[in-house]
Formats: sequence, C-alpha cells, structure tokens
Amino acid sequence: MSENRSKVAIIGAGFVGASTAFALAMKQLVNEMVIVDVARDKAAGEALDINHGLPFIGQMDIYDGDYSDCADCDAIIVTAGVNRKPGESRIDLAKKNLIIAKEVTNNVMKHYTRGVILVVSNPVDILTYKIQKWSGLPEGRVLGTGTVLDSSRFRYLLSEKLDVDVKNVHGYIIGEHGDTQLPLWSATHIAGKNIREYFDDPKYGITEEYRREIIEKVKSAGAKIIGKKGATYYAIAISVNTILESLLKNQNTIRTVSSVINNKYGIDDVALSLPAVLNSNGVKEVMDLSMTEDELALLHHSAEQLQSILEAVKDI
Ligand code: NAD
Repeated sequence: MSENRSKVAIIGAGFVGASTAFALAMKQLVNEMVIVDVARDKAAGEALDINHGLPFIGQMDIYDGDYSDCADCDAIIVTAGVNRKPGESRIDLAKKNLIIAKEVTNNVMKHYTRGVILVVSNPVDILTYKIQKWSGLPEGRVLGTGTVLDSSRFRYLLSEKLDVDVKNVHGYIIGEHGDTQLPLWSATHIAGKNIREYFDDPKYGITEEYRREIIEKVKSAGAKIIGKKGATYYAIAISVNTILESLLKNQNTIRTVSSVINNKYGIDDVALSLPAVLNSNGVKEVMDLSMTEDELALLHHSAEQLQSILEAVKDI
C-alpha cells in the first residue's frame, strides 16, 4: 500500500459499527474500509448499502471481509459485542464482551502488521486494558473511545445552558466511561474564561445544584437514549470519526480517550480516560494537569472501581 492510502477495519457491523462506517464514508476519511462480523451477511449488507451512495460522495473501497483483511490497516476499530440486558450486572456484561474481545484480538493479531486498535465496545475501559495486554502491542497503540462521548455531551449541555457555540466550550469528563466518571471543572473554560468565573455570577445559573444535575445528565445520557430508541450510535460514530481523523492525519489532538495509565496522578495499571495527545501511533502522551484535591480523589475512586472490575474478570 502506498504511503498516502489509508485503510481501516471495523469489527462488528451492528448499530455502532455500521454508523461508524457511514460517518467515515460521508467524511471520506479513508480510501479503504473493511467490515468484519460473525454475521457476514450483515457486514456485506452494510458495505453494499454505503457503496450505493458513493457516486455522490466519492470513490472508496468498502467491502465485507475476514480477519486477514486487518493486515496493513491504519486503525482497527472494535465494535463487536453485546449490549446490557435488563437486570444484568456490569460484571456479567464485562465477562460476555471480554470473551468476544479476546477472540477478536486473537484473530486480529494473527494478521496485524501495523496501526492502532481503537476499542468502542463496553465496558470500554476494561476491554481497552485487556486488549492492550492480550495484543502485546506497545502502550498507547491500543486505546478506547473512553469519555470522548461523555466530554462531548458535557460540552453540548454547557453550551445549551450558556447559549454559546459548542465549539467555544472546552471541558473534559475523565475517569471511567461509566458511573464513577467526573468532570474536570478546573480545566473547563469558555473561549479561555474559566468556568469558575461563571459559578460566581448568578446570571448564568451554573449553581451547585445545576453542576450536580449536569454530571448526572451526562452519566445517564446513554441509558436515556437506549430507553427511547433501544441503542445509541450516532454520537459515538461521530466520536470515533473524530478520533480517527486525529490518528490518520497525525494531528496531535487532545481527547479524553481511554488508555493504560502508569505513573500518572498516582495511578498505575488500569485503563481510564484522561486528556491525551493523539497522533498516528495512538496515545502519544497523557497530559499532566493541575487537578484540585477533590478531582484527584474522585479520579482515584474511579481507578479503584475499574481495578475492582479487572480483579473480578482476571481469569478471562
Ligand atoms: P449490536 O448488537 O448492534 O452489534 C454488535 C455486532 O457485533 C453484531 O453485528 C454482532 O454480530 C457482532 N459480533 C458479536 N460477536 C462477534 C464476534 N465474536 N466477532 C465479530 N463480530 C461479533 O451492538 P451495538 O449497538 O453496535 O453496540 C456495540 C458495542 O458498542 C456494545 O458493546 C455497546 O455497549 C458499545 N457502545 C459503546 C459506546 C461507547 O461510548 N463506548 C457507545 C455505544 C455503544
């Protein structure tokens, strides 16, 4: 493959995989895209459906394939998995999806030549940690979408509240992509004006109560959408596209992806999200930020929660 061609594989052609493929095609982000699924017909159908729109967007090579097609990919995106059933615990879901993820990793690594593995399937932090270990790839080469979507939801809600363009709202949700995530208020700003200045001015309504409310809204956003339409896929597909763009264009963009953390903020040997610099090799660097004591304590709590799940699934 010549230097200027780009290729990605999407493993899993469900709601998330198919929406990601569609978004990638609309953005014309890659030259070649292979979709792999145990349900081969589903992958073939999604590829055909997108191919039939190419005359109006531009030439790409999109097809269903098998794991041998993961060779020479810039990125391999893992969306295979099952969704949580009512009443099922997070550990039960983790076990089911880890079994699938292990099979996927083994198959991918038989043919792997280069590129980044981007994990989307849930629980994304647990899968990112395990795939990093199973694959034997250098740290940073395996990353998860983590709290990129949560950070996007946070920014969206703040922009709505403050009635300002979401692109001017900068803020990060960090930690677990799950219940113990936390907002990094200390690094949240509107075009350079720290959010704390808004706390102090009653006209903006960023009260303590509102701050608690927005955190809950971000945390429960996925469940709310699932309650209404059965699954979430558009915003995650856009998040995957944004991460891929940083990777493929070597942009050094800062995003709250999940990656294995060692020697940072007193945290070791767990995957979670922190603002990190992304380039074509994956996570180039996790940022050092001055967090408040409260933020650090919450981040440690999140890391401990994830470590306890890792302990519960250590035999997989
Ligand atoms: P889905 O059920 O629509 O699709 C899953 C696909 O995986 C199916 O097509 C299935 O055939 C395939 N699959 C299952 N086992 C496989 C295997 N061993 N090898 C290859 N393919 C296999 O589910 P979805 O709605 O697309 O969600 C996929 C995953 O993404 C879930 O784990 C979900 O929780 C997660 N998700 C994550 C985020 C996030 O922010 N990280 C957001 C939304 C969904």
